Amino acid sequence: MKIKNNMTVRIIIALILGIAVGSIFNLFAEADWVKGINQYVFNVLGQVFLNLIFMLVVPIVFVSIVLGVVGVGDPKLLGNIGLKTLLFFLTTTALAIIIAMVLASVFKPGEGKTDLLQSNDVKQYEQEQKAKAKEAEEQGMATEQTFDQTLINLFPKNPIQAMATTNVLQVITFAIFIGVGMIALGDKVAVVKTFFEQVNEILMHIVMMIMKYFAPFGTFGLVATAFTNAGFGAIKQLFMYFFIVLLALLIHMVVVYGGAVKLLAGKSPVWFFKGFAPAMTVGFSSSSSNATLPISLECAQDNLGVRKEISSFVQPLGATINMDGTAIMQGVATIFIAQISGVDLTFMQLVTVVIIAVVASIGTAGVPGVGLVMLAMVLTAVGLNPAAIGIILGIDRLLDMSRTAVNITGDAACAVIISEREKRKLNRTAAH
Ligand code: ASP
Repeated sequence: MKIKNNMTVRIIIALILGIAVGSIFNLFAEADWVKGINQYVFNVLGQVFLNLIFMLVVPIVFVSIVLGVVGVGDPKLLGNIGLKTLLFFLTTTALAIIIAMVLASVFKPGEGKTDLLQSNDVKQYEQEQKAKAKEAEEQGMATEQTFDQTLINLFPKNPIQAMATTNVLQVITFAIFIGVGMIALGDKVAVVKTFFEQVNEILMHIVMMIMKYFAPFGTFGLVATAFTNAGFGAIKQLFMYFFIVLLALLIHMVVVYGGAVKLLAGKSPVWFFKGFAPAMTVGFSSSSSNATLPISLECAQDNLGVRKEISSFVQPLGATINMDGTAIMQGVATIFIAQISGVDLTFMQLVTVVIIAVVASIGTAGVPGVGLVMLAMVLTAVGLNPAAIGIILGIDRLLDMSRTAVNITGDAACAVIISEREKRKLNRTAAH
């Protein structure tokens, strides 16, 4: 706990230093020494951080979706309570991302100045995309993806190539097939399941190491570059992005969870939030749903009277597959990055964002920072530039804290609702 708090403090110090140093450097933006330090120090630190995140995208997406499919196919989940839990998780996650996208589209945090998109990586990616489009045009190929093509392209001809080219949709499809195959073969492939679980553990450990040891430097580099290039003006757009994620988290918490607890369990939302508040503060300070699990279970059972069997089924499952707060960040971030890139997402792309973010939520593990890796997947899936993550990466820690608190509250809301409804059912049968 102590280490994690130190980690947060270090990242926040790095963020403040990055803003301060970058803003001062911006005043001398034309000087050679500023350009030199920006290119060889700030930019290198930032880009290494970004590459470390990208390095994990394909392996994490693949392994966690295989495990997600295998987990959802668990016979325990196919029971009545399991299905209700899944339905609640999927519906609330879809609502979360829709709220996020609506708010981001209405408030337009990324409209206007595009100075934020100054990093070499972003420019390079854009040039590559333009070159590709030009080549396609010259060869008379359609640059727009038609519906039939999109559908056909979901299925990889060659899964290794899909991984090598970070074609996330194809990687997901392949992972689903492997997961379904594993469910069908059950115990026969127990070793493979253990193998995937252990690879997942290794990947999560790598994420933890990156966040612990490199995130402060990476954050400093990214924020300092952004502010050296865009000046203090950058703070406005970033602040708007930050504010909209928080607003969406708050609305989701009060309206969706508060409303669901009231309507589906007949309980007061104030009672619910008050009883669960201790776990929320731990989720906030640790940025990890997994690490908060013991206290989440305790709050649900002791303060909210959730039956133990229900709480110990619903909440651990939720800490693994139900991440509404993360989905909200991804929804706002996708629209924000589209706006600063001057891209209008089509209706089909918006629908893709909802579907992929729901899948991402299932695949996101409850440890700090994984939501960002999954954001790279969402962006790639709709053809946006994943390198643009660098812009929001610097301020992500604060949002990670807030979204984790929401992630675990969603699990608790589900546990309360199912437990209360089961209690009522039992009472009714007893009365007869
Ligand atoms: N830190 C989040 C959690 O543990 C996941 C994420 O969004 O990175 O719930």
